[in-house]
Amino acid sequence: MIPRKKIDIKKQNVIKRCKKCSGNSCSICEAQASRIEKYAHANIPVEYWDKSFKEFSGDENFRKAISLKIKDIDKVYEEGKSLMFIGTLGTGKSYSASCLLKRAVAAGYTGLYVTMADVVASILSSQVDTSKYYKNLVGADFLVIDEFSSHWIFPSEKSEQLFGSSLEFVLRTRFQNQLPTILCSNDSDVDDIFGGFFAKSFRSLRNHHVELYVVGGKDYRRKDA
Ligand SMILES: [Zn+2]
Repeated sequence: MIPRKKIDIKKQNVIKRCKKCSGNSCSICEAQASRIEKYAHANIPVEYWDKSFKEFSGDENFRKAISLKIKDIDKVYEEGKSLMFIGTLGTGKSYSASCLLKRAVAAGYTGLYVTMADVVASILSSQVDTSKYYKNLVGADFLVIDEFSSHWIFPSEKSEQLFGSSLEFVLRTRFQNQLPTILCSNDSDVDDIFGGFFAKSFRSLRNHHVELYVVGGKDYRRKDA
């Protein structure tokens, strides 16, 4: 989670730099500071807090598709479709997912940003209260899982099984409850992310519930599953 000091300094700065009140605090900068509190609560990376999606300069088709979703976040929630962004490093997947999440929490939804590394570590840790952890993942209105990848080496086959079944449970529950889930991945073969038994069930879940976006330059294509 993001340290308190970082959050407080970011909040103080938006007030200090407010063009309207020059640091005396007004409704505009107070609203911005309260949004920052929400971003932090959702664990959105600090680097995206003051970046607007208007600054996105990547894949034009992708930009258009995401802009529409940001403009109508209520519709994204109502429809409950999940999204998967696939592309190499630097294509703006995390940035776009974070902008969607920022819009959602600013609009009053609950949101959570995690990386696959967080999920693996938390599921396999004996220190983490895993039932509480699952509740957070399953219960957030919007969930982003970043760096969704197959490049994991598990300490044992048992831990790999545990991880696979846990993540499958989280995704299945969210998809069935029509809770928007955004997965970002560098892997072009998304169905390889889960091995063995889970590969088949993930493919089936993905086909039914997830809109796939391949983000890039010329290779952009949108596949509606
Ligand atoms: Zn102000």
